[in-house]
Amino acid sequence: MTLALISAMHEELSAVLALMPGEKKVTHAGREVWRGQLHGQEVVAVLCRIGKVAAATTATALIEHFGVRHIVFTGVAGGLGAGVRVGDIVVADGFLQHDMDASPLFPRHEVPLYGRSLFPTDPVLTARLARAARTALPDAGFHQGLIISGDRFVATTSEARALQAQLPAALAVEMEGAAIAQVCHDYGVAYAAVRTISDRADDEAHGDFTRFVHEVARHHSAAIVAALLA
Ligand code: SAH
Repeated sequence: MTLALISAMHEELSAVLALMPGEKKVTHAGREVWRGQLHGQEVVAVLCRIGKVAAATTATALIEHFGVRHIVFTGVAGGLGAGVRVGDIVVADGFLQHDMDASPLFPRHEVPLYGRSLFPTDPVLTARLARAARTALPDAGFHQGLIISGDRFVATTSEARALQAQLPAALAVEMEGAAIAQVCHDYGVAYAAVRTISDRADDEAHGDFTRFVHEVARHHSAAIVAALLA
């Protein structure tokens, strides 16, 4: 059983690859995919790139070409929920596309012809990932719930407020998770995702994000993955 580890950014992927000695690189669909072992388990690690389409292509390639049946995403996100602070960990129970809008034909946020806006993650894999995150980073604030995705880096206080008002259950916002959740729903593949909060999706977001990814986030991803496969 091969587990796929997806990262959105180079910094995070290289920290994960450092845990996979002897990994081999294959290029497929423009993606560099590293196959190897992590704590004795077969894994493939890949960079999905940024945004929903890139993430959907990556997930589809992993499933169709690499035979993956379990996908774990690690990355960073902007905090939206009250009390979701920079450095906290958010594990997703489910995802929604905040920029999906086929209204008035379909309700706001509903993915047309799916009859749903929410794509839940796999409860078993999610519970394992949540345990790993809490073990690896016992001092970080921990949250579990809804993460929202859209093709926009949310970096103004006014947009963050608008999203909070529209989707009060949302803990965090990012750019890939809901796309992978939809692909995994289509294929019946187990999916779990964890995000470290890099910014508050507000007017300060850009500077916070850049600093945080270099200083903290990549270590978080690798620590969580190591605990997951321990
Ligand atoms: N690589 C570029 C931009 C990264 S875009 C750079 O280095 O500047 C931000 C990435 O982090 C996306 O993959 C997204 O999933 C996540 N993310 C972090 N904070 C976010 C926010 N406030 N809004 C949307 N996505 C965010």
